[in-house]
Amino acid sequence: MSQQLDYLIKNATIVDGTGAAPYRGVVGIKDGRIALVEQENRPLRADRAIDARGLHLTPGFIDTHASTGFGFFFPHAADHKLYQGITTEIFGNCGTSPAPIGPLLTDKMHELAADLGFEFNWRSLGEYFTIIENIGLQFNVGSLAGHSTLRGGYVHDWNRTTAEELAAMQADMTAAMRDGALGLSTGLIYAPGCFATTDEIVELARIAARRGGVYASHMRDERDKLEEAIEETLTIGQQAGIDVLVSHLKAAERRNFGKIPAVLGRLEAYNRSAAGQAKIDVYPYTAVSTKLRAFIPKELLAGGIEKLPQVLQQEGTEEKIAAHIEAKGYDLSQMLFISADHPQWAGKDLQAIAALEGWSLARTMREILQRDTEVWIVYFCIDRADMDAAILWPQAMICTDSWSHPINAPRHIGVPHPRSYGAFTQYLYDYVIDRPLLTIEEAVRKITFLPASFFRLAGCGRIAEGMVADVVLLNMAEVQPRATYTEPMQLSAGTEWVWVNGRAVIEGGAINDERPGQVLKNSTIY
Ligand SMILES: [Zn+2]
Repeated sequence: MSQQLDYLIKNATIVDGTGAAPYRGVVGIKDGRIALVEQENRPLRADRAIDARGLHLTPGFIDTHASTGFGFFFPHAADHKLYQGITTEIFGNCGTSPAPIGPLLTDKMHELAADLGFEFNWRSLGEYFTIIENIGLQFNVGSLAGHSTLRGGYVHDWNRTTAEELAAMQADMTAAMRDGALGLSTGLIYAPGCFATTDEIVELARIAARRGGVYASHMRDERDKLEEAIEETLTIGQQAGIDVLVSHLKAAERRNFGKIPAVLGRLEAYNRSAAGQAKIDVYPYTAVSTKLRAFIPKELLAGGIEKLPQVLQQEGTEEKIAAHIEAKGYDLSQMLFISADHPQWAGKDLQAIAALEGWSLARTMREILQRDTEVWIVYFCIDRADMDAAILWPQAMICTDSWSHPINAPRHIGVPHPRSYGAFTQYLYDYVIDRPLLTIEEAVRKITFLPASFFRLAGCGRIAEGMVADVVLLNMAEVQPRATYTEPMQLSAGTEWVWVNGRAVIEGGAINDERPGQVLKNSTIY
């Protein structure tokens, strides 16, 4: 070996991503690739040599589920991810993607852009990709095409898609796949996705399947009807001939605790059949983070979100909300108000706010939503044993489920869930160090080789010669999530070095201004 390496990393404990046992070795990086992996030290020339004694060397982590699309217009949008060891993020999840933007969404996008302070000047996913590539990316990204985005762009009456509207959505879906989308996502609890039929989704998923895409779903129900929602997801997988990913699997509400092992059994049975594969992603927290309006009856949203404040004033609305809370079994004492825009309520649960204001629970929901339809809440509604079962399932990947929160935008939207800054570190800390329930090699496989294989990201997710040099050096003694529910914007600790496409972005714990990231497209995969 006479070549001059860019980096030579010696004495590292190598966890290669495949689940194989860790071993001590040497890794060389050259021109964006892993140029050598050896067990013995020998004289080698490199621009920079790093003694990684005491550190674990792993492939860069892949966050399978995010919605950062509008964050990339702002500097250092990925710092909080890189400090978790994440080198690739897949966004456009839960039915919402930054593109393609149909005609009915244009005004809304201009509004959002003005509100956050970015320029909205694209329509297709390809145009959007070019814009963020020109800005420069700190890490690699891929995008799904969001079903609610497609629907919102074309469908006038959310309860009924016409043949022409479906054809327009199909044309945009085809274009998105041609532009490099990794598949289709749905958010079937959110408007307007929630009004779609299964058949409509199958039609769009078929288009994704033709180019090797996947179908990722925030399912229609994660509570009482979890099992039916799983069946719908598998039906879509089977009918469209597409691999499916159940997004952020959970069984919410106390009365549904304990359901997850049986759900995993159902997915295993599906995987044994010839239909295709089903996998899940999970975040390692027992609280969800979502918009408060996801907890009111769907019918109140049928006229569009702009009309919600008026709808909420109509007679009988409070009774409808009260009946809905009762029917769904929502526990408002476990629902934390986190919006900084209303400091008198911040950090209080909804039951406490009701007591403070002298309102009923239903009125509390109505009053809050009437002031702000976009309010986010944190809701403790997941059983820890269920979370463990999901995370320990061999086909489970880990995600931040970080929402479209442009962390570094001049204006923030609310307060994020701590998972945005800490999910992967929390996962390693909780499951490998603290309890521990996973070996480090198995924990790393679930966040590297497994997602790279599922999304068909060729060359990613493994430490081996010729692979893409997305590499992390972790100090496991220091790995610590610092983000909490009340202080969620705290960077994770323990990530010493991170390389993206062979260029260092974190060096000895310090982040730099490099932007070596690329857009990963399905067309580059085939
Ligand atoms: Zn979701």
